[in-house]
Amino acid sequence: MPGRIHIVGAGLAGLAAAEAVLSVGLEPVVYEASPHAGGRCRSYHDTALGLTIDNGNHLLLSGNEQALDYARKIGGAHALHIQPECAFPFMDLRTGERWTLRPNAGRLPRWIFDAARRVPGSRAVDYLSPLRLFMARRQARLGDVMPTKGHVYERLWHPLLLAALNTDPAEASARLTASLMRETLGAGGDACRPVIAKNGLGPALVDPAVAMLAAKGAPIRFGRGIRSLKVENDRVCGLVFAHSEEAVAPGEEVVLAVPAPVAASLLPGLETPTEHRAIVNAHFRVAPPAGMPTLIGLVGCLSEWIFAFPERLSVTISGADRLLDRPRDELATEIWREVAHVAGLDAATLPRWQIIREKRATFRATPEQVARRPETQTAFRNLYLAGDWTQTGLPATIEGAVRSGRKAAGIALRHAGLEALPRMAA
Ligand SMILES: Cc1cc2nc3c(=O)[nH]c(=O)nc-3n(C[C@H](O)[C@H](O)[C@H](O)COP(=O)(O)OP(=O)(O)OC[C@H]3O[C@@H](n4cnc5c(N)ncnc54)[C@H](O)[C@@H]3O)c2cc1C
Repeated sequence: MPGRIHIVGAGLAGLAAAEAVLSVGLEPVVYEASPHAGGRCRSYHDTALGLTIDNGNHLLLSGNEQALDYARKIGGAHALHIQPECAFPFMDLRTGERWTLRPNAGRLPRWIFDAARRVPGSRAVDYLSPLRLFMARRQARLGDVMPTKGHVYERLWHPLLLAALNTDPAEASARLTASLMRETLGAGGDACRPVIAKNGLGPALVDPAVAMLAAKGAPIRFGRGIRSLKVENDRVCGLVFAHSEEAVAPGEEVVLAVPAPVAASLLPGLETPTEHRAIVNAHFRVAPPAGMPTLIGLVGCLSEWIFAFPERLSVTISGADRLLDRPRDELATEIWREVAHVAGLDAATLPRWQIIREKRATFRATPEQVARRPETQTAFRNLYLAGDWTQTGLPATIEGAVRSGRKAAGIALRHAGLEALPRMAA
């Protein structure tokens, strides 16, 4: 009998690891502290709105290959809407000006030479400054190597990079930003088509994986929060939960897919990111007016992105630590005023609303914090780390989480000599 693969944490990293184990015909043992899967990427019924929403508005891109492949493998891809064209509408609320960024499909950035595809009032040469990111030193911040002022920075680089890094781009790691650019705009418009789970992340990325695990005889063990690891020489030999223990027999492997602070508490001496940044989402129960784009970027105001979902308009504000102490109703009123202006709705009539503040949404993407991201393999030979905070080469994103889970599962399977097992019949 092959040894078991234990996976602790059923966020996207843990679920992706579990899918990878299932794909070679094995049943993983998945433990999750909370009563539900999905972690930071989950849908729930919100009573204030009377709607099912996500704990945070999420945007994927068509170039997020591993995340989209994971969605296909679990049977959730139909719940993801991939825009046919790379187009990002923007509006400057100070001037009322609207424009649409339309990078062309291929890698050669012909769009920067086309005034109708780029930021109005900009020149092709304005788009060259990010090239300097690719030569940056490990400790360099974006602000050390490219200008953080000016028309194109304010209307393009700042909004896009703030959303992707959840950190003020000026202080973000230049190297991490370069990796991000390589996989997004650097890969051409075809890799940057927005992908949105219009009916929520649950049906696309979480529920089908939970159902698949149950159907294959490996239901997630909910309510199992790991408290400590039992170790013997250089291997983990037990998982200690609040009211139970699970032995990890010789030949068995463990993937730890929990948040960074939990991993750090289990593994003294493990370096992990310690600083985080908040994301604020505001939701308004209102039908999006006809012609409202699915996603619109805003500059010159508090709101940064408006998502048009069926029956609601939802706003994302990244790097939002400054908003954590502001009264919720004050925030809702200010954000609604902006949303109503963009959508052409009545600003005086505040619809049913919800404000969700995720205080520790992602790690702060500075060079110092990035340097603390650990690799997959730990000092214990049967213990592997997964999560968006590990060394994925990407900011804390769904794509990074899925990659990390698949990588950890791949190494665990190889270590157990199991990777070549045939896929079991469904
Ligand atoms: C508001 C918000 C907006 C975002 N927007 C985007 C976006 O637009 N695009 C994008 O790509 N990414 C976005 N992200 C990031 C994305 O959600 C994360 O990168 C991803 O969900 C991380 O998955 P993970 O599995 O690494 O971690 P988590 O989701 O944190 O999963 C960890 C799991 O471990 C469980 N756990 C914790 N402690 C224990 C324990 N002791 N024992 C067992 N289990 C435990 C948790 O309950 C959780 O299920 C956003 C995040 C937030 C919060």
